[in-house]
Amino acid sequence: MLAPMTPPTPAPDSLWRALLTASPGAAAAVSTGVPLARDLDVEVAVIGAGYSGLAAAYALQKRGVDCVVLDANPVGWGASGRNGGVVSSKFRLSFPTIDKLHGLDTAKRMHRLAHDGVRVVETLVDEFQLAGARFEHTGSLRCAHTDTALTAIRAEADWVRTNLGDTSMTAQSRADIERETGSKGFVGGVLSADAGTILPLEYVRGLASGLTLRGVPIYESTPVQQMQRAPGEPRVMLRTPGGTVRAKQVIVATNAYSDLTEATAPYQRELVPFRSAMIATERLPADLDARLMVERRSYTETRRMMKWFRKVDGRMLFGGRDAFGKEGQTTGFDALQRAMVALFPDLADLRVEYRWSGYVGMTFNSLPHVGRSDDATTFCLGYNGAGVAMASLLGQHAAALALGETPELSLLGAPGLRPVPFHSLRAPGVRLVAAWYQFLDAVGA
Ligand SMILES: Cc1cc2nc3c(=O)[nH]c(=O)nc-3n(C[C@H](O)[C@H](O)[C@H](O)COP(=O)(O)OP(=O)(O)OC[C@H]3O[C@@H](n4cnc5c(N)ncnc54)[C@H](O)[C@@H]3O)c2cc1C
Repeated sequence: MLAPMTPPTPAPDSLWRALLTASPGAAAAVSTGVPLARDLDVEVAVIGAGYSGLAAAYALQKRGVDCVVLDANPVGWGASGRNGGVVSSKFRLSFPTIDKLHGLDTAKRMHRLAHDGVRVVETLVDEFQLAGARFEHTGSLRCAHTDTALTAIRAEADWVRTNLGDTSMTAQSRADIERETGSKGFVGGVLSADAGTILPLEYVRGLASGLTLRGVPIYESTPVQQMQRAPGEPRVMLRTPGGTVRAKQVIVATNAYSDLTEATAPYQRELVPFRSAMIATERLPADLDARLMVERRSYTETRRMMKWFRKVDGRMLFGGRDAFGKEGQTTGFDALQRAMVALFPDLADLRVEYRWSGYVGMTFNSLPHVGRSDDATTFCLGYNGAGVAMASLLGQHAAALALGETPELSLLGAPGLRPVPFHSLRAPGVRLVAAWYQFLDAVGA
């Protein structure tokens, strides 16, 4: 008997959906909603049609491996269709911290992996001809809210230059930040040149469209409800409502939505899912548009529960994380709007036209994980809110692992799945710490 799946919720009414609908092209047409309606035998089955799953499928298709992608929802329903579209070359753990904990050689390898992520996005955009995803390599500006924070991020940029030979991070003065962003709320910052922005839903739909053209079947509305392997049986059986897929290898690419069914729920134990919310204003009046965020970069700030922002379609997009929030809740949006107006008082009278949220997968060591949970199953997840580039990269590395290859993974390589008690003890602790950070930020400490 298959466990029933919680009925899927519709994709949120985001700015990305509005932009996609307004430009009906090949990428928009890919969401056929076609579920699997027969039994299949394949080499590799990929569960999840976000960046991770689609990047994995592309790596398999390029090697001539017969594969299929299954998703409980339409392509890009998960975080890949909801995120801020910031393409970044960093981990939540800074490179100096990685050096302190694991040594310089590891910091160098991790630095290479972080920048590989951006290269993969560039390559995919190029190979799939995704002009509609509007990838712009404009850089990312980290804006310091206090002198202490500024000293810390400048020291990090210096360390990266001196020890890793990376000159792409440069210090910016208070005046630079004010001129570029139009906000007086920051005391200075650091520009990371190897970063950019993209339209996230166009990107994920474009990948799916390109894969379909290359002959990779993608079945939507196809939840994997059971994943089983009988003793002595080399193939894994994936049961879905409309058919069974028998695969030699499975790649689980379900990240912070892994608990949609019991079959993938064990992968949620690797994570503490946090709600991340976004708002987008109405179009800015011409004078504000000419003054705010003139370089069209992405912007983050240094508060513990960081907010980020960018300008898209002439609108301000503003996002942030929430320690205890649940998806679909309306709370949190007003707090975001207040935070936005505190930084940009000129936006006080602007209407917020779009509000949406989704789950990011935080991990206990603040790093993404890719690994094998057994000899027939590979997973990649836990991008800690920075998965546009990293999921595009780790999906490809998951495909390589599934084929028995040994890609360079450094600290991202996971030994297997986490045991249950470990998760149940630590997850509430992570949330409490985040809530404490939220409180400290709120009181300005
Ligand atoms: C609001 C928000 C803002 C963000 N902003 C940024 C940003 O600006 N920059 C950045 O780099 N990252 C950002 N992120 C993180 C980034 O979006 C994710 O790291 C990335 O999209 C993860 O991709 P994925 O393919 O691994 O997972 P997802 O895109 O979440 O895809 C998982 C898929 O698995 C499917 N699924 C789950 N269980 C099953 C099952 N049993 N059977 C079949 N299908 C199943 C789901 O339907 C879903 O489509 C943000 C995330 C959110 C939510």
